[in-house]
Amino acid sequence: MSDFGDLARWTADRVAAYRASLPDRPVAPLVDPGHLRANLGGDLPDAGTAAAEVVKQLATAVEPALVATAGPRFFGFVVGGALESATAADMLAAGWDQIAFNFTTSPAAAIVEDIAGGWLKDLFGIPASASFGLVTGGQVGNNVALAAARHAVLAGAGWDVEERGLMGAPQVRVVAGEERHATIDRALRLLGLGTAAIEPVPSGPNGAIDPAALAGILAGGPKCPTIVCLQAGNVNTGACDDLVAGCKAARRHGAWVHVDGAFGLWAAASPATRHLVEGIELADSWSVDGHKWLNVPYDSGYAFCAHPEAHRASMAFNAAYLTGHGDGAQRAPADFVPESSRRARGFATWAALRELGKDGVAELVDRCCGHARRLAGELAKLDGVQIGNRVELNQVLVDFGSDDRTELVIRAVQQEGTFWAGGTTWRGRRYMRLSVSNYSTKDNDVDRTVDSIRRAAAAAG
Ligand SMILES: *Cc1c(COP(=O)(O)O)cnc(C)c1O
Repeated sequence: MSDFGDLARWTADRVAAYRASLPDRPVAPLVDPGHLRANLGGDLPDAGTAAAEVVKQLATAVEPALVATAGPRFFGFVVGGALESATAADMLAAGWDQIAFNFTTSPAAAIVEDIAGGWLKDLFGIPASASFGLVTGGQVGNNVALAAARHAVLAGAGWDVEERGLMGAPQVRVVAGEERHATIDRALRLLGLGTAAIEPVPSGPNGAIDPAALAGILAGGPKCPTIVCLQAGNVNTGACDDLVAGCKAARRHGAWVHVDGAFGLWAAASPATRHLVEGIELADSWSVDGHKWLNVPYDSGYAFCAHPEAHRASMAFNAAYLTGHGDGAQRAPADFVPESSRRARGFATWAALRELGKDGVAELVDRCCGHARRLAGELAKLDGVQIGNRVELNQVLVDFGSDDRTELVIRAVQQEGTFWAGGTTWRGRRYMRLSVSNYSTKDNDVDRTVDSIRRAAAAAG
């Protein structure tokens, strides 16, 4: 086929057909890795293959191995689907092949990303003066925000970490909740601060930090550059740290406050859940995912910083050949992220926000939380079943009476394939973990999920 138009249309049709199959297709993949390797592997042939043939072979071979994470009954890991506008915008982004480095490489990407960043700050109630970096997800959001934090707290102690590194630098304290996300630890590893720097803060009943314990730890340690990591949305329970108390305690010690709000920060976008993240505007940096609750296709996340100069100092670079960079007239997206050349992810986020509007984002958050509450309510009625967390957001932990029975039920529902949920260990006990963050999940999907669990629990005895 020589006409790319035909291939592009074929591809778009194939994407549309896959998405149309999502409500009914089994959630788990139907083929094993060996099958995929047999179909697609072997030595790379010397001769090339026509583009259309390549794409058709790829689509045909991999579709049975896809996990329907974009569908309405995938409740594992906090995933989220992909809104129609955002999916189509990402297809455009691939076709346009823009470099979202600066205004010169793509005015379109630079400006659209800037607009989307402004809308996000408005939705979250993050100060409009904050800087913004469009990254690949919550992990990199944490990396970027903590790099800005590292810059600022060490600059406060007279140390230029970008120039001198950490060898011989003043000690930096990192105070973070004991139930923080593992990506905080990896960010600290990558930044050279190390995980041993973490002073863990005990958490309260539902997995949010105990603010009095935070204050005690801050008061008890040495006076030195300090970073406090708070969390909005515990991956097990959905609990959000008390940001007002946390920020006030940190302020008294001159500490930088970073909020990891990968999914929980979206609570800010709905009047019904906004109170969970009250005080959000008091922090110094924030990390949020787009591919989880906003339902933007993978991979998209956002890092915000109340101190743009610290953010830029930690990330930006320049070189003589990079014309149009750093002239100050237009924001250069690459100044706020660790990548240099990068895909134009801003189009998808812009589209998702426009498709939903402020009201739509609030409804999306409310709807998911409503589904989570209903799942918890219906499952609690089953014999021998208890809900392990207080359902404040979109996370539900289900206990089937013993760790063994919980494991049996998880395995059975995964095999049945009506929906997908994984297991977790929280405070020494096994749970089925349900996480609701897909825009397309309907009441009927909740019913089908409860039915599937009822069957599996009955079979488990
Ligand atoms: C998912 C998550 C992350 C990591 O985000 P990625 O998008 O996977 O990089 C960080 N923190 C929390 C609380 C999360 O839920």
